[in-house]
Amino acid sequence: MPSPATSPNTESAPKTLRELSCADDYDPNSMPVPKAREYIRAVLKPVAAVERLHIRNALGRVLSEDVISPVNVPGHDNSAMDGYAVRFSDLKQDSEVELQLVGTAFAGKPFSGKAGKGQTVRIMTGAVVPDGCDTVIMQERASASGDTVSVAAVPKAGTNIRKAGEDLRKGEPALKKGKLLRPAELGLLASLGIGEVSVYRKLRVAFFSTGDELVSIGQQLGPGQIYDSNRYTLYGMLSRAECEILDMGVIADTPEAVEEAFVQASAAADVIITSGGVSVGEADYVKQVLESLGEVLFWKIAMKPGRPLAYGKIGDAHFFGLPGNPVAVMVTFYQFVRDALARLQGQTDVKPLPTLKVVCTAPIKKAPGRTEFQRGILSQDDNGQWTVRPTGDQGSGILSSMSQAHCFIVLPTDTGSLEAGATVDVQLLEGLI
Ligand code: AMP
Ligand code: MG
Repeated sequence: MPSPATSPNTESAPKTLRELSCADDYDPNSMPVPKAREYIRAVLKPVAAVERLHIRNALGRVLSEDVISPVNVPGHDNSAMDGYAVRFSDLKQDSEVELQLVGTAFAGKPFSGKAGKGQTVRIMTGAVVPDGCDTVIMQERASASGDTVSVAAVPKAGTNIRKAGEDLRKGEPALKKGKLLRPAELGLLASLGIGEVSVYRKLRVAFFSTGDELVSIGQQLGPGQIYDSNRYTLYGMLSRAECEILDMGVIADTPEAVEEAFVQASAAADVIITSGGVSVGEADYVKQVLESLGEVLFWKIAMKPGRPLAYGKIGDAHFFGLPGNPVAVMVTFYQFVRDALARLQGQTDVKPLPTLKVVCTAPIKKAPGRTEFQRGILSQDDNGQWTVRPTGDQGSGILSSMSQAHCFIVLPTDTGSLEAGATVDVQLLEGLI
C-alpha cells in the first residue's frame, strides 16, 4: 500500500487542525459553508485497510486497487443487428446486389466457414462476424429467396459491427482505484469475468446523543422530555453510506459520562458523530472534555439551519459535533459529513452535490447573511417543466419538512427574500447517499 501522503486519494498531505486554524482567512465565528468543507477535507486521511470481497458484497464499497481488464470486451467483432454479414467490396452504392447464402451465425454459435467473394452469412445480434465478412446489412434492407439474398448498400465498411475491445481493452485499467462500486460497476466487473475485488474496509462510525431532555424510544416521556430522533436519522444516513455503525445511545449530561463515551468511541471508531450541545455557552463541559481529549474546533457556520458545528480529531478518530435540531443534523450531515465519509472510505471521485436551476412557484422568505438550505417540493407543470416550492414552516426543528421534501432549495449568502417565479438552485435528496 502506498502511504496516504503519496496516495492519489489525497491531493496533498493531510494538514493538522493547528495548521488550519492559523490560516489567514480562518474565522470560527463566521465560517462560510465551502470554507468549512475545504478545512475538513484538508485534514482527512483515508482508511488504509483493505479486504477482498465477492462483487455482490462489494456494492457501495470503494476499490482499493485498479482493476486491469484481463480480456477485450467484447471479445470478438460481433454483429449489432439481425441481418446478413457481407464483404463491403461486394456491394454497389447505386443498386442492390445478389449474394449467395452460405450459412448462419448465431450468438454463441459462430459460423465455422469463411465467406468468399459474392457470398453472405445470415447473422444474429451478438454473433461473431464470420471470416471474410466486414459489414452487416440489417435484415430490413435485404430480401432472401432460397439461397439468394438481395442487399442494398451501406455507405461504409464496418457498419453494424461492434469491434472487439471497443468497450474495454485488454491490459488497460477498466476501473480505477478509489472508484465507488455501483450497479454499473458490478456488471462491468462481471463482463470481465472478475468475481472478487479488493475494497477499503468499511468505516466504523460511533454516534451518541447528549441532552437531559432526551428519551430513547420504548421509554415513557417525563415532563419536558422528547424522544431522541437524531440517532435514527443518523442511523439511516450512515447505513446508506455503507458504514459500520456503533449506536452508543443517549449519554447523560455529566462530564464523566461524556468523557467515558468519547474515550470508548475513539478507541472503537474511525469517526465519532454527536448531535446537540455545540452551541456557544451551552454544555460547556463537552467543550472542556473534547479539549482535554483531542483537538476540536468549534465553528459558527454561516448557514441555516446548522449554525453551530464542531469538527476535530480525538486520537485518530475524526469528530463531527452536529447541532441538536433535527433538521440541522440532516442538513449538516449532507453538506459536510457525507463528503468526508466518502473521502475517508477512499473514494477519489467525490463530486459536490449537483445543483440544478428550477423556477420557484412561491415566494421565499430569507434574510441576507447566511446560506440557507430550505426544504422544497418538486412538481412538473403542464409543459413538463420541473418547478419547486418550499415545504412550509422552515424551522430547524420541523423534521416533517425533511420527510415531505424532495430537495434542498439552496439560497446563497447574499440573497434576500424572493418573489414567486424566481429561479433557484436545488439539490436533490433522492440518491444523495
Ligand atoms: P442543542 O443543540 O443541544 O441546543 O439542541 C437544539 C434543539 O435540538 C433542542 O430543542 C433539543 O431538544 C433538540 N435536540 C437535541 N438533540 C436531539 C435529539 N437527539 N433528538 C431530537 N431533538 C434533539
Ligand atoms: Mg442540548
